[in-house]
Amino acid sequence: MRVKTFFGGIHPKYEKETTAGSPIEILPAPETLVVSMDQHTGAPAAPVVAKGDTVKVGQVIGETSHGISAPIHSPVSGKVTAVEPRLHPCGSSRMAVVIENDGRDEWVERENHNDPVQLDRNTILQKIKDAGIVGMGGGGFPAAVKLSPPKNAVIDYLILNGSECEPYLTADHRVMVEYADDVILGAKLMAKVCGARKIIIAVEDNKPDAITALQERAGAIEIVPVATKYPQGGEKQLIKAVTGREVPSRGLPFQAGTIVHNVSTALAVTRAVRDGEPSIMRVVTVTGGVVNEPKNFLARIGTPFEYLFEAAGGFKEEPGKILVGGPMMGVTQISLDTPVVKTVTGLVALSKDDSSLPESIPCIKCARCVDVCPAYLMPLRLEAFGMNEMWDEAAEYGAMDCIECGCCSYICPSKRPLLQYIRLAKREIAAANRRKSS
Ligand code: SF4
Ligand code: SF4
Repeated sequence: MRVKTFFGGIHPKYEKETTAGSPIEILPAPETLVVSMDQHTGAPAAPVVAKGDTVKVGQVIGETSHGISAPIHSPVSGKVTAVEPRLHPCGSSRMAVVIENDGRDEWVERENHNDPVQLDRNTILQKIKDAGIVGMGGGGFPAAVKLSPPKNAVIDYLILNGSECEPYLTADHRVMVEYADDVILGAKLMAKVCGARKIIIAVEDNKPDAITALQERAGAIEIVPVATKYPQGGEKQLIKAVTGREVPSRGLPFQAGTIVHNVSTALAVTRAVRDGEPSIMRVVTVTGGVVNEPKNFLARIGTPFEYLFEAAGGFKEEPGKILVGGPMMGVTQISLDTPVVKTVTGLVALSKDDSSLPESIPCIKCARCVDVCPAYLMPLRLEAFGMNEMWDEAAEYGAMDCIECGCCSYICPSKRPLLQYIRLAKREIAAANRRKSS
């Protein structure tokens, strides 16, 4: 049978073998946690605790009244030792609450619901919002906002993204295998909130055990195997692959009658609505060529990267590069003191050899970058516009539709820094648009 897929894309080395079969290990909370107030798309939260305060697990420690935001909760019980800017996975400092763990794991009061699907839509939505759930696939968009499209939008499909197409990462894979019931329940709860008529869970066909685990519990939910191809998990690419629908240029999924969420977000929704537990932990893959014992961990938000790498047996040799996320779209890290935030899907430590960038040579006009671009763009032209600061031309050629997947840079035989210049063009176009509208 032909599996569903999208136009373009690439087949990088997937490097998932070492952790795809590793059961999730529950990582004990460290002695000190650094909980960032900036863990989502939109306005960061503001701390509502001060140095010296005692906190319980699940207590709100950061919140904001801004529409696009999410509250932050304490991942442990203990004492607040500082409220100050600390290093964030984005590479700069962000306001954070530092908590000394007292080891008692004393929770705030939790409200359980044995049959949460019976709750009404608004109650479920409020619980998702109060739990601070954001897109756990790395996007970080507040889930409650995404589940509330404009009133006149008709949502035909809720699509759960279980493709996990980035090399090395296996957190979502293990969540689908080990928490299949919770993923299915989370999907039903989210479908009730957004009014979706049908639920689809899309899983790359390199995860047959996840497909089987979900199919055994699916009922009316459709489990759709999709091709193992990067970036299969891109929102627009996934919608096209499983429904045949196109999201308009610069548009949003609801305009194609769809809402897409990650499978780990569905797990977080179940934990929040059924168990009354806010978003204080997540599954993180810790892997890469220089890691002694690559593993999947269930880690508390705020756990320093160093603690995770130590739990994975440390390094065989000094890493050349450490990434949050996979090697295609991941962000290079400058310190192991950086803490886990809600969007950290994995930590990948690469050797010096695997991290070195080849020197680029002039473009040979082979058009391979055009052939692989899933957004139907002309990366070679966009790079030239970016290099020559031709922002109007870059906008005209659709730079803002670039999903920054990096397929063009990956495939280019001349090793042109295509994505680098396209990102620059996107930044400049966005800044010009802001100036025009202010
Ligand atoms: S131009 Fe953008 S969307 Fe197209 S391949 Fe390059 S990074 Fe991906
Ligand atoms: S793939 Fe590289 S060399 Fe080929 S056309 Fe694109 S930019 Fe030029």
